[in-house]
Amino acid sequence: MWDLTKAEIVGRHQMRQIATFLKRYVPGFEKSYILQSGTTVGVRETRRIMGLYKLTTHDVLEARKFEDVIARCAYPIDIHNPAGKGTILKNLPPGESYDIPLRCLIPQKIESLLVAGRCISGTHQAHSSFRCMPTAMATGQAAGTCAAIAAQTKLAPRHVNFEDVQDELLKQGANLGRHKTLY
Ligand SMILES: Cc1cc2nc3c(=O)[nH]c(=O)nc-3n(C[C@H](O)[C@H](O)[C@H](O)COP(=O)(O)OP(=O)(O)OC[C@H]3O[C@@H](n4cnc5c(N)ncnc54)[C@H](O)[C@@H]3O)c2cc1C
Repeated sequence: MWDLTKAEIVGRHQMRQIATFLKRYVPGFEKSYILQSGTTVGVRETRRIMGLYKLTTHDVLEARKFEDVIARCAYPIDIHNPAGKGTILKNLPPGESYDIPLRCLIPQKIESLLVAGRCISGTHQAHSSFRCMPTAMATGQAAGTCAAIAAQTKLAPRHVNFEDVQDELLKQGANLGRHKTLY
């Protein structure tokens, strides 16, 4: 909570500085003002589960494919220096994407729980890629689909047949790449 409070204070201070700069130096902003900031400060990286599989930098940069793919991502490794300036950007090979396996959504030790979005299982570096919004939405769709099948079949998510999840996602229009023909 101390860090979040500090980030809130620094963030609001920076917004005032930027607003003053825009008003003073950028034509068209003379009458501009800050309407509202977000409800709380956004945090790029937070806790993640330890899943049945942990996505790595190699998986991302080598555009690795997995049998139990439930989502795909082509966003680069994009690490913003937590201690100051600078960003590390590493692209995938042109035209390539990597798979996110269903196992990244299933915690190692907790039954009846699925995780989606930026909390899925992966390293700090891999997270800097899969945290982006389109991928977060795709993993959310997969987690919901797997949860529904788990409820229907009365199985824990780890025992759900990944092909059933893939079939349902494909019916919904998901693009799982080379592994399946689209309906
Ligand atoms: C500053 C910043 C800039 C970014 N820029 C981009 C960008 O340009 N493009 C891009 O693709 N991605 C960007 N991202 C990354 C992306 O926005 C996030 O990684 C993504 O939105 C994460 O989605 P999520 O669903 O996992 O989590 P969130 O979007 O954080 O959703 C989690 C939700 O859970 C709610 N919640 C938390 N605790 C509870 C609780 N106990 N009970 C009920 N609800 C709860 C929260 O209020 C929140 O609504 C950015 C992130 C940040 C911080």
